[in-house]
Amino acid sequence: MRTIFRNAHVCDPSQGIDKIADVVVDEVKVLAITEDSTPYDVGSCEVIDCSGLVLTPGLIDLHVHLREPGYEYKEDVASGTAAAVAGGFSAVCCMPNTDPPLDEPSVIRGLLKRVEEVGVARVYPVAAITKGLQPEGLTEMAALKEAGAVAVTDDAYPLQSAEVLRRGMEYAAQLGLTVMTHCEDKSLTRDACMNEGLTATIMGLRGMPSVAEEVQVARNCLMSLYTGCRLHILHVSTAGAVRIIRWAKEKGAPVTAETCPHYFALTDEACMGYNTSAKMNPPLRTQQDCDAIIEGLLDGTIDAIATDHAPHASHEKAQEFALAPFGIVGLETAFAVSYTELVSTGKMSLSALVDKMSCQPAKVLALPGGTLRPGSPADISLFDPNRKWTVRAGEFRSKSRNTPFEGWELRGKPVLTMVGGRAVYRHGM
Ligand SMILES: [Zn+2]
Repeated sequence: MRTIFRNAHVCDPSQGIDKIADVVVDEVKVLAITEDSTPYDVGSCEVIDCSGLVLTPGLIDLHVHLREPGYEYKEDVASGTAAAVAGGFSAVCCMPNTDPPLDEPSVIRGLLKRVEEVGVARVYPVAAITKGLQPEGLTEMAALKEAGAVAVTDDAYPLQSAEVLRRGMEYAAQLGLTVMTHCEDKSLTRDACMNEGLTATIMGLRGMPSVAEEVQVARNCLMSLYTGCRLHILHVSTAGAVRIIRWAKEKGAPVTAETCPHYFALTDEACMGYNTSAKMNPPLRTQQDCDAIIEGLLDGTIDAIATDHAPHASHEKAQEFALAPFGIVGLETAFAVSYTELVSTGKMSLSALVDKMSCQPAKVLALPGGTLRPGSPADISLFDPNRKWTVRAGEFRSKSRNTPFEGWELRGKPVLTMVGGRAVYRHGM
């Protein structure tokens, strides 16, 4: 079945397109971007009037915790991918800290089978660097790649040993796999639950200093230069980390980086009142860090905006602040928070935002999509840029409610998401 999106504001930074046009989609692929789609309007064909709407290549999230297998009470493939498409994402990369972890080809294959059965978005598994997410003992990366892993990571269990990182990167480099790292020197964050600083002092809580993130960002960038292995730095949260990554890129290191909407939209003051919905790792930092992250996005130091969607059940987040688990959900608010904070304020253009949320994520891991070039997959997001809406976690498709944006009035609403030519999400369309 053919679909024609008529009169859309088509924004595709991969081709430098930012204009009113029609987009024609045939079965599974993009057929054409054209001023006049009338010749295509033959046979069985759905025509969607997109006046006032923005049409982009489907958003791609490099950093999602789908929680399956093992933690289906927090999230699973069905609910996680439903949340993704409701947020305008046509594809997500999922992290390996499940139970069992994604450290064996059979687990990756089992997950991909579930995706085929119940998933509505594309899912790209990221495998563990080490067996059992342990401090050492590399996984069989070749077999994991063969089973469908698109990268390897230490997320949630940052490698403390530089030697293990070195061998992991040498192995990954041989296979052309990117290593994605959560940067945290654990010796500097023991028993800490938020950013180190005035707010933590007022709250009487132990803080994580920004340098705990930065020493590993520096180490991992140096290791990328040394081994030649592609490195992707997950969830950058500090000004210092931005400066180090900028330096590493200048030196020619094959390094990319992502941040998340909460690291430019919120500071550690969101934790006040012992708000566990503002507890994540790395923690929310200061206004200077937020400003540096926006600067890093604008000058290309930070390539992508990801969510680090980390669902937790309400009873887990209801514990006291120091005991509650780290992490927040993000799939259903990421575009609107970014649009509201960056585009509506004039800090960033719409096409730069689409670049950070679709084209660049595709490039970082060489994934399909991130473009509307004819012949590419018909993965499309449609947004109403003028629609104001209020975040109500109770209405999320995700199984979890742990958002720091509850009650926020945002601009920019995903109204239709198409994956492989199929409209898998519609909101009033
Ligand atoms: Zn992490």
